Amino acid sequence: MNKQRKCVGCGEFKPRENFIRVMKTEKGGELVINPNSKTFGRSAYLCYNQKCIELALKKSKLNKALKTSAALEKATLLEQLNQEN
Ligand SMILES: [Zn+2]
Repeated sequence: MNKQRKCVGCGEFKPRENFIRVMKTEKGGELVINPNSKTFGRSAYLCYNQKCIELALKKSKLNKALKTSAALEKATLLEQLNQEN
């Protein structure tokens, strides 16, 4: 019920709704931000702040968490922050 997720940037645990969700799709292995419920794959979570996004990208933490070498543009993730505000 009350499952907590971990930010790949800062390592903090929070409920899923408080995170940007990045998913590597099962089909094709592309990276999708905040996928709909019909998309399946391995997920990683990031806080809605620039610091966590930068941390996750800088040390390839996001790639490690998702077991992928597919890159995600920082700008694409930062766009998510603007949508929240
Ligand atoms: Zn974080």
